[in-house]
Amino acid sequence: MTESLGELLVVATPIGNLGDLSPRALAALRDADVVYCEDTRHSRTLFSANGFAPKGRLLALHQHNEASQCEEVCQRVARGEVVVLISDAGTPGISDPGERVVAAVAQAGLRVSTVPGPSAVIGALSISGLPTERFCMEGFLPRKAGERSVLYDRLEREERTVVLYESPQRLAVTMGEMAGRFSNRRVAVVRELTKMHEEVLRGTLADVSALVSSREILGEIVIVLAGATVTQEVSPDTVRVALLDQFAHGASVRDAVTEVVAALGVVHRETYDLALALRKAAKGD
Ligand code: SAM
Repeated sequence: MTESLGELLVVATPIGNLGDLSPRALAALRDADVVYCEDTRHSRTLFSANGFAPKGRLLALHQHNEASQCEEVCQRVARGEVVVLISDAGTPGISDPGERVVAAVAQAGLRVSTVPGPSAVIGALSISGLPTERFCMEGFLPRKAGERSVLYDRLEREERTVVLYESPQRLAVTMGEMAGRFSNRRVAVVRELTKMHEEVLRGTLADVSALVSSREILGEIVIVLAGATVTQEVSPDTVRVALLDQFAHGASVRDAVTEVVAALGVVHRETYDLALALRKAAKGD
């Protein structure tokens, strides 16, 4: 018996500019045995704009039927079909349907592969001007004020850059709430990526919040928020012990202060004053 060649292909589609449909994505859509999409009418527009019609069937897979479609998708892949999954825009599974069906196919021991491409989270992060090395994605903010407040409590200590999706109608309220919590943190409000009115508003939360409440911001929006700067809580006693240890090893005041500031992340001037005082006290003994 030959092995099944079936697979689930998760294909990214443009988030605005139709030119961002990659040649691999186009070929996958054209040649798939079946294409699952959120909205068949919306996806047909994408196909006709790119001048092709998929050879396979076009079926709906959206947030309301994803759970019930898992079984069918698994059966198709198991009998050797190439099944493509797309969403209305961007990468399936990223604040879009896809997570469950991918998990189901993977759990059945069948092949899942990707045709990567546009996603608003990566596009926005990459042009935010904020640190990109470590980041987290929070998706859409909760609708309920209480749940948002719990999230803000968490973000207060979050050191990684945070990416959020937001609607234009709620942007001013959200920015006002976040400015009330962490006004000095830098933020980038990124809107209409890859489209004619693409724009990035950068500044502190306080500044950008004032800006978005003074003018109408339309279109699709991503908020990129700088992580918190967490200063270490170090007791004066710990600094004193560290300085005395340096002196015991023959360090000068200057070298001892340099070492301790680097090791504990404490303020230079205060550490220097303490080092001088310790030296003076030692000489007086
Ligand atoms: N799966 C998509 C992705 O990979 O980016 C995200 C889908 S989510 C339902 C839609 C949200 O993504 C929008 O409300 C907006 O926050 C963000 N988004 C999508 N396209 C965008 C664009 N062109 N510019 C800015 N944000 C966009």
